[in-house]
Amino acid sequence: MLVSQILRNKETQSVVTVAPGTPLSEVVKVLSENRIGALVVSSDGKKVAGILSERDIVRELGKRGAGCLSDTVDDVMTRNVYGCKPDDSADLVLQTMTMKRFRHIPVMEGDQMLGLISIGDVVAARMSELELEKDALTGMIMGY
Ligand code: AMP
Repeated sequence: MLVSQILRNKETQSVVTVAPGTPLSEVVKVLSENRIGALVVSSDGKKVAGILSERDIVRELGKRGAGCLSDTVDDVMTRNVYGCKPDDSADLVLQTMTMKRFRHIPVMEGDQMLGLISIGDVVAARMSELELEKDALTGMIMGY
């Protein structure tokens, strides 16, 4: 299974982004209202300046307390963002997420972001693929 298929199977292709300079207090609202665990920091919705996940916020809260909420996203986001390509395999993306210990990865074409996939999207796609394979094998064995 390819990343492009995983993206197509998602309910929505749009990626939730915030602009550089957004205060963390606003980011917390955006994450909560959209029921998501990470967002991309971008000034135009296409070029990726950074990524920020709930873990980054929890880390800052643990270190510095609620005062960190008046910082901007730029102070806390990860700038060295790993991306994947539409024709990468789901297995490669899962390996990267597992090795690097993150659960979100933007799908890039050059410097333009096409979408974002989470570890949940990849696992769901692999499970439905395995289900199809199981049905095909059962069919062969039972002679359907
Ligand atoms: P996550 O597991 O995605 O909630 O993120 C865990 C940590 O990895 C956080 O510090 C994120 O900012 C960072 N992170 C998440 N996704 C990526 C990515 N694609 N590339 C680089 N860092 C990331």
